[in-house]
Amino acid sequence: MDDRDGVIWYNGNLVPWREAKAHVLIHSLHYGNSVFEGERIYNGKVFKLREHSERLHKSANMLAYELPYSVEELDRATELVVKENKLDSGYVRPLAWRGAEVIGVSAIGTKVHVMIAAFPWGAYYGQKAIKLVTSRWKRPSPESSPAGSKAAGLYIICTLAKDEALAAGVQDALMHDYKGRLSEATGANLFLAINGELHTPTTETILNGITRQTVMELARKRGIKVVEREIWPDELAKASEVFLTGTAVEVQPVSAIDKQEFEVGPITQQMIADYSALVRS
Ligand code: PMP
Repeated sequence: MDDRDGVIWYNGNLVPWREAKAHVLIHSLHYGNSVFEGERIYNGKVFKLREHSERLHKSANMLAYELPYSVEELDRATELVVKENKLDSGYVRPLAWRGAEVIGVSAIGTKVHVMIAAFPWGAYYGQKAIKLVTSRWKRPSPESSPAGSKAAGLYIICTLAKDEALAAGVQDALMHDYKGRLSEATGANLFLAINGELHTPTTETILNGITRQTVMELARKRGIKVVEREIWPDELAKASEVFLTGTAVEVQPVSAIDKQEFEVGPITQQMIADYSALVRS
């Protein structure tokens, strides 16, 4: 990814892609407290850009630091980087981190740095319906981690779970939380269709996805009841359909979790169609 043409917005300036470097002693590289976003570009515009810029702020604030750029400035910088890289569709990756000014567990005295990169990126899985395995890695309690923050450190669990799933020959992992309830996949939220209703885990241990919130709205507009609640693994047996939602994955049907199989049914198909129409409108 580091050897390509294009520009990256880096602390307020557009720099050539290959020159957007950071020092090996940056605090966040050692202590995992960078925060980031993932955004999709449709027809040259970022879908729900404002919500993503706001969430980057929220993520940083949950880790006790403030971004040196306002939500408005991040929005403008993102639009600029999409335009300068001539992207009609693709993905945006903003990242904020604490610098190499001092070393040590305390982040006091470090400066906050921000970059925004944008690049072409197609379908996340490239498969109509995907299979998941239940991971042995659990989402931590909100008392052990700032679950609502899209913080790099929380992704060690996701990366371990995802790579174990890939090694097992399936596309992704479903994580349970510290109590054993269903939580989310490694980069997407979970929905179950049960008796014509949509059920999704509460936000206690997951990232409250912007796509999750969008799909809940779309479902309610269709008159589909949406229930946020704690969901236990044995309830998968009651689900006729399962899908994931996320900026990168969009609305992604799931055909199996471990040995349990699901159809790509009418609710999933409706949500795929509605989401696709909304992001491209
Ligand atoms: N959960 C995790 C762990 C994620 O990484 C993502 C992707 N950002 C999501 C859920 C979905 O969030 P969103 O819909 O905002 O992309």
